[in-house]
Amino acid sequence: MQALTALVEQALAEVGGCTDLGALDATRVRWLGKKGALTEQLKSLGGLAAAERPAAGARINEAKARLQAAIEARREQLGREEIERALAAGRIDVTLPGRGEMRGGLHPVTKARLRIEALFRAAGFEVATGPEIEDDFHNFEALNFPPNHPARAMHDTFYFPGGKLLRTHTSPVQIRAMLERGAPIAIIAPGRVYRCDSDMTHSPMFHQVEGLKVDEGVSFANLKAILHGFLQAFFERDLAMRLRPSFFPFTEPSAEVDMSCVFCDGRGCRTCKYTGWLEIAGCGMVHPNVLTASGIDAERFSGYAFGAGIDRLAMLRYGVSDLRLFFESDLRFLEQFRTL
Ligand SMILES: [Zn+2]
Repeated sequence: MQALTALVEQALAEVGGCTDLGALDATRVRWLGKKGALTEQLKSLGGLAAAERPAAGARINEAKARLQAAIEARREQLGREEIERALAAGRIDVTLPGRGEMRGGLHPVTKARLRIEALFRAAGFEVATGPEIEDDFHNFEALNFPPNHPARAMHDTFYFPGGKLLRTHTSPVQIRAMLERGAPIAIIAPGRVYRCDSDMTHSPMFHQVEGLKVDEGVSFANLKAILHGFLQAFFERDLAMRLRPSFFPFTEPSAEVDMSCVFCDGRGCRTCKYTGWLEIAGCGMVHPNVLTASGIDAERFSGYAFGAGIDRLAMLRYGVSDLRLFFESDLRFLEQFRTL
């Protein structure tokens, strides 16, 4: 029993010397575990005379309980100290100056759209809008795409049950505006359009701007002049522009619009695939069938129409190489446009 008292004193001293919870647990195992020193004492009771066992057993259990209580108290104390250390390490100095507020900015596509709108307003065009959920008549039929026309297949349309669809271009706004206002008319229609397509230069949702002018005596020369003037103003530089014959169901004749590359000034680079030219828009004279479908006298009036991708215009103006960056909402990308 002298030995037991000495053991308990030694154990309590060790518990008091533990400075972290790990060491405390190792000490607990060493004394109270399956092979611990006090557990061994209980096992040795078998060697005592039967009359002595109860008293000796009671003293050993009392010693165990005392040691357990000491370990618990030490554990609590060490836990408190740990929390206090963590609090002290992460302390916030409220006297430090603040970091300041982040100012928001317009999205680069929005900036490009506002710029386009301002330039065309100055040239006498009104901004028109229309629904993004369209019907076959406004998106295709009135634009001279008869049912089963192969040009419909180029549009990879999202259809809803019941004949509605997500507009594949902003051209249906032309039809709505002409039906509503008649001629003469001069509008641009910027907005979202949708096609089943996605890669580095295609997104299933993208932005187009449509232009339409209908009046007496409107000619192809007027179309060329307004497009060239717009491109030079939008990119703020002298640009060459050329028209290549093309086909759209809603214009006749039709043309693709190329401008000299804004990155190499026409000398040839990776962006323009070493041609010196960038494809930037489609255009043409409004097909008489479209004027007629929109309730306008095709004998008296003529008009031109054009369409361009706002995202593409923004990419070229700001030097962005991947269209998807516009739609990922990554602040590290967007905040670069705050002051542009
Ligand atoms: Zn180039």
